[in-house]
Amino acid sequence: MRLRLVLGDQLSRTIPALEDMDRAQDVVLMAEVAEECAYVPHHPQKIALVLSAMRHFARALEARHVRVRYIRLDDPSNSGSLAGEVARAVAELRPAAVIATEPGEWRLLQAMKGWEKALGLPVEIRADTRFLCPRPWFRHWAEGRRQLRMEFFYREMRRRSGYLMEGEEPAGGRWNFDAENRKPLAADLKPPAAPRFAPDAITREVMALVAERYGGNFGSLEGFNWPVTARDAQKALDHFITDRLPHFGDAQDAMAEGEPTLFHALLSTSLNLGLLLPGPVCEAAEAAWKRGRAPLNAVEGFIRQILGWREYVRGLYWLKMPEYRELNALQAERPLPWFYWGGETSMNCIRQVVGQTRDLAYAHHIQRLMVTGNFALLAGIAPAAINEWYMAVYADAFEWVELPNTHGMAIWADGGLMASKPYAASGAYINRMSDYCAGCEHDVKAQTGQGACPFNYLYWDFVARHAAAFEGNPRMAMPLATMRRMAPEKLAAMRREATRFLAGL
Ligand code: FAD
Ligand code: SF4
Repeated sequence: MRLRLVLGDQLSRTIPALEDMDRAQDVVLMAEVAEECAYVPHHPQKIALVLSAMRHFARALEARHVRVRYIRLDDPSNSGSLAGEVARAVAELRPAAVIATEPGEWRLLQAMKGWEKALGLPVEIRADTRFLCPRPWFRHWAEGRRQLRMEFFYREMRRRSGYLMEGEEPAGGRWNFDAENRKPLAADLKPPAAPRFAPDAITREVMALVAERYGGNFGSLEGFNWPVTARDAQKALDHFITDRLPHFGDAQDAMAEGEPTLFHALLSTSLNLGLLLPGPVCEAAEAAWKRGRAPLNAVEGFIRQILGWREYVRGLYWLKMPEYRELNALQAERPLPWFYWGGETSMNCIRQVVGQTRDLAYAHHIQRLMVTGNFALLAGIAPAAINEWYMAVYADAFEWVELPNTHGMAIWADGGLMASKPYAASGAYINRMSDYCAGCEHDVKAQTGQGACPFNYLYWDFVARHAAAFEGNPRMAMPLATMRRMAPEKLAAMRREATRFLAGL
């Protein structure tokens, strides 16, 4: 008999730990453990999502006559840790071996590597095959490259997968249609309502447990609307392909008050838990293009997120950990302001993004990158503090994807390994891509003085503060030149304003 371990984000039928199973003998272990629920103060919807999806997955296994040892969070004998639950199962069931799939977190993989010695039996850790780019392949691609640019990785992945390829050439003659995907929301474009996934009895039971134990964490549980089974995840994908994908490209970078999801897919939770696999998702999008149901700029933009960004950040994470999370290229040390946790702020863009994060455990990419991420970058928030926030507040947060996005893309803590220049922007960018500024008490056009938009003076203070670090970076040449052309008294006034603002955080 062998013990098969399935973690909360490994809920795929094809997960390697379940391969070659002897159903008459083997036992699958799934455990809800307090340690994983509490290492950051997760949004209650995130905890409910993972626990409910785990319970549904265990039920589906049992329906296929698989023997499951399922340990609930409130089981009085639950040791509270994964290692503790594996040890308890080994002591009680006496398996010949433990079989697991590599986890999505470096810390947990290190712990697992010590289990064989601690438990005194073979522990096989199988590679996770649910990604389009195996880890060794990414390592090979990265070897000898000074810069690891996503765009080049993505082209390799297009060739390798054959998605949107016409022979050796990219469909439509271009690899990237990003230039067409940078529009604000058109006035006549009304985003469709998100599909509803009303909580069933299992989810409601989990929600009650989460409310009791983690109800004090930032985030409301009431709006819970996540797929918790493969079947619901497929429904979410179908909805996206028919109702949202056709406009995904046009509205990809837009932000709008009262429209928290726009034309985004809402698929990251299902992909990250394993309820959907990336290959079939890309194929569904490609098929829509081939049938003339969605334009190429939308389909290419979407496939790039999954085949490109998602695979790239995973490759980078495993390549660079554990040193990666310690990097702090801009020596950012400021604590996280209280308004990230819902405290009062006069900045409408932050209020909107944090508000929907609290209600939905969701914000789309540009909100994460150019509002909360941009503010953290400009204000010099300590990487550990802002990473913890992103890990805590989003339902799709898992370290392998959260860390490179935050550390590398949003706050440039890796000094440019991932992004050729920091994603720093003044209020003008937020004003161009959203309607947030119209409802704000700050003046987005003003750079100094009473009521000026904080993003404006923080931006120029940021450029001035790090001018030496950006010297020689061709993509920072323009902001540096603009700053040097500025009247010295104007720059000094903005920097004074920034110092005053930051001191008041
Ligand atoms: P869509 O915009 O519709 O995109 C489609 C899919 O592409 C997503 O479901 C996702 O699987 C994938 N994708 C898109 N962008 C990225 C990206 N940059 N990296 C990896 N996959 C991507 N994504 C997470 O899944 N978990 C996180 O913890 C996470 N943290 C982030 C933190 C910051 C600071 C930033 C800037 C981005 C983060 N992202 C994270 C990436 C991205 O914001 C989310 O994947 C996306 O918003 C999820 O919503 P959606 O499914 O509607 O995505
Ligand atoms: Fe945000 Fe500035 Fe616009 Fe206000 S004016 S919403 S602070 S960018």
